[in-house]
Amino acid sequence: MRITPPAERALRKGHPWIFDQSITDIGHAGAPGDLAVIFDKERRFQAIGLYDPTSSIRVRILQVRQPAIINMNWFQSKIEMASRARASLIKHNTNGYRLINGENDGLPGLIVDRYADTLVLKLYTPAWVPHLKDFCDALAKVSPAAHVILRLSRSLENQTSLRYGLTDGMTLTLQTPPNLILFTENGLIFESDPINGQKTGFFLDQRDNRLRVQKLSKGKSVLNVFSYTGGFSVYAARGGAKEVVSVDLSVPALEAAVRNMAHNNLTTAHETIAEDAFEVLARMASQKRSFDMVIIDPPMFAHSEKQIPVALGAYRKLTRLGLGVLRQGGTLVQASCSSRVDDESFFEAIHKSAKEAGRKLTEIERTGHALDHPIDFKEGAYLKCLFAATG
Ligand code: SAH
Repeated sequence: MRITPPAERALRKGHPWIFDQSITDIGHAGAPGDLAVIFDKERRFQAIGLYDPTSSIRVRILQVRQPAIINMNWFQSKIEMASRARASLIKHNTNGYRLINGENDGLPGLIVDRYADTLVLKLYTPAWVPHLKDFCDALAKVSPAAHVILRLSRSLENQTSLRYGLTDGMTLTLQTPPNLILFTENGLIFESDPINGQKTGFFLDQRDNRLRVQKLSKGKSVLNVFSYTGGFSVYAARGGAKEVVSVDLSVPALEAAVRNMAHNNLTTAHETIAEDAFEVLARMASQKRSFDMVIIDPPMFAHSEKQIPVALGAYRKLTRLGLGVLRQGGTLVQASCSSRVDDESFFEAIHKSAKEAGRKLTEIERTGHALDHPIDFKEGAYLKCLFAATG
């Protein structure tokens, strides 16, 4: 195929996607997973990628400049690179991490998370289906696991005819995986439920921020809002918090949070509240309940460009509500995982809201992704987090 000059320029700069409207000429209609080869005007090779007629991201680039044969060996070399980049995590007593972060590790449209002996492979495009055997063979060579569980993105789940019998949550290995997977993160034991849980069972991307929270927790009362299975709560408890409160809408997530405390023999006072976070924060403020540290790590708010203003409004509201239960001199930790909301707008929203609330906010640190979530292109970045002290 041929593509527009701007798309060619983006490709040369390393952008991993070609959108449907950038395609100017195509040899013949392709099926999902066909290899698309992009040529320039002089018929010189530009790139090769996975073709997906079902998505506006029509081609996900695998290889640029030099032609290559896309087979098990090619996948293996990419997985080896990704695996090497994570090698240092083992030294930190961590066997739960993202082994492959999609486009950012040169394998677009697919992620692989490791939880101890289990790998969770998530596909975001049917284009991977025809290559799955080669990919899994390569994975088994580089990063063997007792169990490989397949997850399908929502869009893929709806495309029954393109799945060739693959189902969300199925096991690709011989043995039935255990119901409960335990793994370690910075020496702490956590549960993951890759089939019924959110994402692939755990929010691995917050590992470094959790360690930061641990270091700031000694002797403090900590409120963990949008706690999920208590990642931040467990770290706060290990850091010596005197009290931890976890708030989340999901009852099973909070039950897991209680178990995660127990897996680590932590006996810190831990209260769980299964209610809407906005309501809980407002009620606590009216009851004059306050904390030394408030962590706010909500789900993605902007699912499209149009929703960016709404998302920023929600972040501002959460800052205001969070500050409403944060003592003077306390620590605010607020994160965003909306890739469409850029860093500057997010941090600005927090500061604006603090100002409106008449609270002084002194930044301690702005943080982003951990080592196993490398970012290789603009759209790949999503996580940002502010640590700030309040006046
Ligand atoms: N901080 C967590 C990840 C949070 S993900 C960690 O470190 O693991 C976002 C969480 O927000 C999910 O667990 C989801 O159940 C919860 N959630 C979504 N909307 C909510 C709401 N309105 N009130 C409370 N929790 C909510």
